[in-house]
Amino acid sequence: MISQTRKCIACTRKSCTDSKYCTYHHDAFLNLKQKYESWVYAYGHISWQEYMNKLLMMNEVGIWVKDVIAIESRNLN
Ligand SMILES: [Zn+2]
Repeated sequence: MISQTRKCIACTRKSCTDSKYCTYHHDAFLNLKQKYESWVYAYGHISWQEYMNKLLMMNEVGIWVKDVIAIESRNLN
């Protein structure tokens, strides 16, 4: 088996073994998912896409998370 060096789909760093993202973007992705659960808990109903759109508007959301949002929303369409 040829082992390929995979790259993060959001930047040029090497991706983690079990992820399409590098360490930084993978962490951001996990954060994004965790936060979504607390948003659903707080707001009752919010779709994944609505949630991501809202985060994109927020200044306090980090650039790593925004990179991940850009990728994830592209995958939805
Ligand atoms: Zn990355």
